[in-house]
Amino acid sequence: MGNTVIGIFGSRNAGKSSLLNSLSGQEVAIVSSVPGTTTDPVRKRIELPGIGICTVIDTAGLDDDGGDLGRERVARSLQAAEQVDLGIIVLSGNDFPPAAEDLTALLRRREVPFLLVHNREDEAPMTEGFAGQMRRRFGSEPMRYSCLKATTEDRDALTAAIRARLAEGLMRPRPMFEGLAAPGRRILLVCPIDSEAPEGRLILPQVMAIRSILDYGAVAQVLQPEQLEYEIRSYGEQISLVVTDSQVFARVAAIVPGSIPLTSFSMLLARSTGSLEVFRQGIRAVESLREGDTVLMLESCSHHANCEDIGRVKIPALLQKHCGCRLNFEMVSGLDPIKGDLSRYALAVQCGGCMVTPRQLRNRIAYVAESGLKLVNYGMLIAYLSGIYDRAIKPLI
Ligand code: SF4
Repeated sequence: MGNTVIGIFGSRNAGKSSLLNSLSGQEVAIVSSVPGTTTDPVRKRIELPGIGICTVIDTAGLDDDGGDLGRERVARSLQAAEQVDLGIIVLSGNDFPPAAEDLTALLRRREVPFLLVHNREDEAPMTEGFAGQMRRRFGSEPMRYSCLKATTEDRDALTAAIRARLAEGLMRPRPMFEGLAAPGRRILLVCPIDSEAPEGRLILPQVMAIRSILDYGAVAQVLQPEQLEYEIRSYGEQISLVVTDSQVFARVAAIVPGSIPLTSFSMLLARSTGSLEVFRQGIRAVESLREGDTVLMLESCSHHANCEDIGRVKIPALLQKHCGCRLNFEMVSGLDPIKGDLSRYALAVQCGGCMVTPRQLRNRIAYVAESGLKLVNYGMLIAYLSGIYDRAIKPLI
């Protein structure tokens, strides 16, 4: 699920961009001996053996002392740490810069794994004293590396270390149908194939649902809304659960008898990634929205979102109708940092996040929730605004 994002952090001129080039085997980043060549986080897509295509964020130096601008650049580098699945902290000259303290504290708070690399081994090898100091603090020594002199074996070892750290830190979402599917149970999955459905395939949450149901030895019956009435008549009480796409929630709820539990893919996904409770609390904030309030819409795709219409048209219309007032909507696409003070928003609405890793989504949610801003997801909000939230949440609590 989603594209892995790796952040490269460190002091100016520690060799962050050189490390990116060394990893990719190409000159993808501009390298210079002038400290501070990378001024803003730069994203590059590279392919790493055993990991596949991933995005690497090359950040500005954590020790940038260029006045207000320098502080802003450091802040942006730290913000970039909110978006990564793994941090690589590049050190050199046996120095662990003070700003790296903030970075490691943030990564630890977000439970993001990180790898320390001591670069420029050819110029200033790591001393036993520094290695021991790092070992005591972080449980392992930095990896010795020289971007300038790295051999194929060195690069392979670095990639292997990255792979290992990513595997250690892999978030294992709760199985989607834990406690809901079991041998002999029949679960109906309502998947509309309409103009918004991707060409020739199902969307990822639907595929994940099928796999999870099969893992539990239950029967997954995939159908479109038009076929639902017939299937309900045919199987009746043998159906233990109906799961629907949020977009046809109201229509499906009108067909499925109250005796058959009903929920949505997005609610199951929220439970699986541990965000259900945050969103349940956020739902209450809908009733506090007032004329002129601003709602922050968070769309995890940076372009070509499959569900663009939901976030930009449907939810704004439904929400304003429900509240009976005019609201402002601001859209943030991708996982770029949300600029400015979050207190100016009255509510945040996060998309399903099907194109990002569970960790990236969880960290985005944690960042917003820590600010005190209430947060819901698209599917749960649609269920609430359609008047079927209580029914849809019941099988999951
Ligand atoms: S749910 Fe989010 S990540 Fe998935 S397609 Fe829609 S905007 Fe993109």
